[in-house]
Amino acid sequence: MNKFEPTILAFCCNYCAYAAADIAGVSRMQYPTNVRIVRLPCSGKVDITYILRGFESGADGVIVCACLKGGCHFVEGNLFAENRIKLTKDILEAIGIGGERLDMYFISSAMASKFVEVVKEVTEKLRKLGPALPKKIQLTKQDPEASKRIFLYNMIKNLALRRPENVITVPEGLEEFGKIEFNPSKCIGCKKCEEICPEKAIDSIRELDLSAILKTSMDQTDERSTKRQRLYETLTKIARKSPSKPISIPEGFEGFYKMQYDPKKCVFCEKCRDVCLEKTINSVKELDLYAITA
Ligand code: SF4
Ligand code: SF4
Repeated sequence: MNKFEPTILAFCCNYCAYAAADIAGVSRMQYPTNVRIVRLPCSGKVDITYILRGFESGADGVIVCACLKGGCHFVEGNLFAENRIKLTKDILEAIGIGGERLDMYFISSAMASKFVEVVKEVTEKLRKLGPALPKKIQLTKQDPEASKRIFLYNMIKNLALRRPENVITVPEGLEEFGKIEFNPSKCIGCKKCEEICPEKAIDSIRELDLSAILKTSMDQTDERSTKRQRLYETLTKIARKSPSKPISIPEGFEGFYKMQYDPKKCVFCEKCRDVCLEKTINSVKELDLYAITA
């Protein structure tokens, strides 16, 4: 039986890791031929879509090789990359490919032998793990009209070997990902959040979702007990059964709306949270892949 030979994609920054790989080549140091090097101006250029595209294209593992911490030519590029790698590892774990297939290394231009060691080590690990995907898959097509974020989520869906179950915590310092939560028992349906959202990620629906409202515990510390909150508290007390479906709101009845949120479109700018006078909206540093890939 033929021994499985993995394909490794290595994103190397121009100033350190790529120079180290170059010196290793010029010095005729021996290392496995499994690695395909992509030179980048800085490791901070590595995007989650680049890594996932690598897996879609048949890579069994991806490594990102950056400058030593404190030695980045662009000051903090390697630290930004480190945060993205943490999130991407969690995404790969959640969709069943496995976070261990992605790693980051900090290698200076003088560390050619470290580069060689890394390639040998990763090749050996991936030989044991086997192929990343059971069969070849089609590349996700990018719609020029759609945002990069939608492209990323479609790619995650294309690669997923299993449905993600748990939400993923977004690492500190990674500003562009998170999710928005609404407290329906506080919302007065003013629609300010919908109007300000630049991505049209919020929609107002003429519905009263009593099931969600009764499940939301009332904030007892809030001194501003509104008539609306008292109404919901009373409903909670007298409810003899849990409402199973939302109630349609009749035309001309302006006070009640349900705010529906699309996590695929949200860029986590937090403008909706800032504009909500009722403090109904909370921003959470979590990525809900279950909702995004549904
Ligand atoms: S801004 Fe706040 S109160 Fe107004 S509709 Fe949005 S969530 Fe509800
Ligand atoms: S965080 Fe920004 S993009 Fe997301 S729902 Fe709120 S306003 Fe829209």
